[in-house]
Amino acid sequence: MQIQFTRDVLSDTKEILYHKGESAHVPTSVGENLIFNKAAVKVLPRNYVERLKAAAEEFAVSQPPAKVEWGIHKGSGDNVIAIVARCSRPMCSVLRYDKSPTPWNTIPVRNVPSQRFDPALIEFHHSCGANPERIPADVLKRYAAEKNGEQIEVTPDMGIFHKIVNFVGDSNKHREIESAPRK
Ligand SMILES: [Zn+2]
Repeated sequence: MQIQFTRDVLSDTKEILYHKGESAHVPTSVGENLIFNKAAVKVLPRNYVERLKAAAEEFAVSQPPAKVEWGIHKGSGDNVIAIVARCSRPMCSVLRYDKSPTPWNTIPVRNVPSQRFDPALIEFHHSCGANPERIPADVLKRYAAEKNGEQIEVTPDMGIFHKIVNFVGDSNKHREIESAPRK
């Protein structure tokens, strides 16, 4: 427990162990003994209490309604067009999707076969407690239109990466990529 000394506390050899006014964190059994002997008073952990009080006040204020703002965003560096969304409540979730606007099949990876992926089934999951919601149909439609005219800027690094990935040697076969083997 945290205590504050109300008088000097001396050792058996009359050395001052604690000065009057000094605070210390001591085992509860020791602290209660000192308090009983009127050598100290218990100190409430003020910062902790204040923090709880502030938090209580903060949470007492009713939350604004959760509203997801959906938008189509064009990346400033690479011009990649993506659906972006965020909740109106602070500290809630965000969503970003930049793949095909229509259903597509994933590339088989090792033992995981190709799977159908439908962007219309993507859900925005709130961490604020509101119910999950899907990408609105009109947003998907607008996204499809914008994605159609997308012109991605490829950085030199990505260009080199694509060259390596697509390189065909004397065997006239693409190199095997461990995570996504080509058939
Ligand atoms: Zn939310």
